[in-house]
Amino acid sequence: MHNIKIEQTSQPKEKPAPDQLGFGHYFSDHMFVLDYTEGIGWHDPRIIPYQPISLDPSAMIFHYGQSVFEGLKAYITVDGEALLFRPDANFKRLNRSNERLCIPAIDEQLALEALKQLVAVDREWIPTAPGTSLYIRPFIIATEENLGVHPSKKYQFIIIMSPSGSYYKEGINPVKIMVEQQFVRAVKGGTGEAKTGGNYASALKGQEIADREGYSQTLWLDGKENRYVEEVGSMNIFFKIAGTVVTPELNGSILPGITRDSMIQVLKSKGIPVEERRISIDEVVEAYHNGTLEEVFGTGTAAVISPVGELKYLDEKMSINKGEIGEVSQMLYDTLTGIQYGKIEDSFDWTIRL
Ligand SMILES: *Cc1c(COP(=O)(O)O)cnc(C)c1O
Repeated sequence: MHNIKIEQTSQPKEKPAPDQLGFGHYFSDHMFVLDYTEGIGWHDPRIIPYQPISLDPSAMIFHYGQSVFEGLKAYITVDGEALLFRPDANFKRLNRSNERLCIPAIDEQLALEALKQLVAVDREWIPTAPGTSLYIRPFIIATEENLGVHPSKKYQFIIIMSPSGSYYKEGINPVKIMVEQQFVRAVKGGTGEAKTGGNYASALKGQEIADREGYSQTLWLDGKENRYVEEVGSMNIFFKIAGTVVTPELNGSILPGITRDSMIQVLKSKGIPVEERRISIDEVVEAYHNGTLEEVFGTGTAAVISPVGELKYLDEKMSINKGEIGEVSQMLYDTLTGIQYGKIEDSFDWTIRL
């Protein structure tokens, strides 16, 4: 067993009202911290009161962006138990991101143990209203005081948690997304498959343009030919064309979503044909024109599923399934949230009850 020190807060904060939660505004009473020092390794695992961190202005994270993060959730089930959804997959992915960013690997078992203890300490912070959850944000930053361009010799691994509201307050509302023409998110050999802040910083410009035109997200095409579909802002993308569900294959520039992987497994278990392959935007447009583009949806931890009601490419605005959620999208949403809130049996063995 790992020896994780726990320092309880003496000043617990007031919890926000369930209808005020939103996303990412409030933080629980405690956080987990683990330090890395070259020559020593990762050391001093501890749960402490939630507080600001103090860093030297030369800390490398501020200058060269050496950082990685994860996102997952804790849920209260219908029978009142606290549950985590595939946390092992998140820490495995964190280590793959670490590898790409030259950050030393963490002990996945220690991270999981730390997370379980942190959630147990702040269990009261998991909201219980329907559709709400405790969003968990593990992240690692380079903390060495040095302006030289090289991998940092010091890091901090931190886990913070934020109670978050129901993503869909009045049923599932399909979103409008726009295919980005000018900018790219990632290229082969770049950092697209790592969960690192830089990918988001470089995507803000495209997002800003989409916002201005009244679209909620950007659909990114590949960085080389500007032709093959990659993903949406912070979600993976799926198309149902003539009864078959198609999602871009993991090609090195797409983030390997855990929700994406879960959806593929659910589709297979239900006998719905699903393909991971290259798909061009022209194929999507053609399917739209010949009436076989039946559903489009994004997948990610925050929204689970985000049906796309309108897709804009060049000057063409394609209305998908009359702007309503499709049958398969609804089934996937019901299945995954059913497992996450303990309403249906977890035949995939994805959940960990605390
Ligand atoms: C986190 C993320 C996703 C979704 O991954 P999940 O594990 O399903 O939450 C998709 N795309 C990007 C760019 C991401 O950062």
